[in-house]
Amino acid sequence: MISTVKKSLKMKPVEEEFMREALKEAERAFAEGEVPVGAILVHEGKIIARAHNEVEQRKDASCHAEILCLRAGAAVLGDWRLSDATLYTTLEPCSMCAGALILFRVKKLVWGAPDLRHGANGSFIDLFEKKHPIHQLEIVSGILKEESSALMKRFFLERRGEKKQLVLIEELINQQQKKLLACADRIVPRITADDLLQPNDFPELEHHPHFRYEEGVLEGLLSARMAIRAKEAMNDEQKREGF
Ligand SMILES: [Zn+2]
Repeated sequence: MISTVKKSLKMKPVEEEFMREALKEAERAFAEGEVPVGAILVHEGKIIARAHNEVEQRKDASCHAEILCLRAGAAVLGDWRLSDATLYTTLEPCSMCAGALILFRVKKLVWGAPDLRHGANGSFIDLFEKKHPIHQLEIVSGILKEESSALMKRFFLERRGEKKQLVLIEELINQQQKKLLACADRIVPRITADDLLQPNDFPELEHHPHFRYEEGVLEGLLSARMAIRAKEAMNDEQKREGF
């Protein structure tokens, strides 16, 4: 009885230690503007691969931390069968990554925070529930759950903050557009608000002495264009992630 307790106490720090390395990867993802998920692959007690979410920078929805880490680990070992390896990931894997874990024959999975929207180990669906005829995966969940979850929350909170700012910018754009239109009407006939947001289409307008003279009008035009582009990028991201 006592030896079992000792064993479990001894086991936890090792898993936490490795999960901290996965969290470092998640922080790298955060710094790069990616949803902060990190993963490492451990083989014979050593980290042989590490990766973080790269969906945005690679413009590829399959570039989850787990997939990139499994691929890197297989390259290191020169074998796609990772039957002696343990994958640590800061977030409950999605269906795609859960499938990959089975196909790569990973021995053990250790994950951190649950993913209520995509999690494939019980939060959304459980792909490991049914006993697989070929491969069984050992699973440990909830390791450094709070840290991983806090990082995710901070990421989406910051992003929502940016969205609020964009709403305010949008209001300013509307005011600015009215001002721009009033001004542009006197110089270029039949100009519309949409025309004003097309880059470099109105050199005559931007360089017209009357237009330039209007206080803040040119700056308004430039910031309106920038804000519209930022908003479009943000909307695309929101659609993809669904958070
Ligand atoms: Zn995934």
